[in-house]
Amino acid sequence: MSDTIFGKIISGEIPSEFLYEDEHCIAINDINPQAPIHVLVIPKKAIPRLVDAGADDQELLGHLMLAVGKIAAQLGVADAFRLVVNNGEGGGQTVFHLHLHILAGTNFAEASI
Ligand code: ADP
Repeated sequence: MSDTIFGKIISGEIPSEFLYEDEHCIAINDINPQAPIHVLVIPKKAIPRLVDAGADDQELLGHLMLAVGKIAAQLGVADAFRLVVNNGEGGGQTVFHLHLHILAGTNFAEASI
């Protein structure tokens, strides 16, 4: 488990409502939402950044992608969401425990990126 805020949320040291949980990951609402729906999918294994994942993590990364689909369906946004991973400080990452941002509830069709 990592010493980051997400490690503490996963261990229960910091109380948080899990929208979803399975053996490998959890999902929580982002504390500072950037869209009407902003959910973080966080692996229980503390991989700091996406690029720190290794061959051993291949199944876990696939698991996270499938979990995103389940969570999006649970949220009722399976047809309209954006998935973001910030990697490294220059990529805007501030919490160094890998996580996926599900953003939804707005129309991204007109967005430039
Ligand atoms: P950024 O802060 O640029 O989005 P990250 O990709 O590392 O960088 O995302 C960290 C996310 O974690 C941020 O969206 C932030 O709002 C969120 N966050 C930080 N602390 C908490 C918390 N206690 N509960 C839920 N979300 C949190």
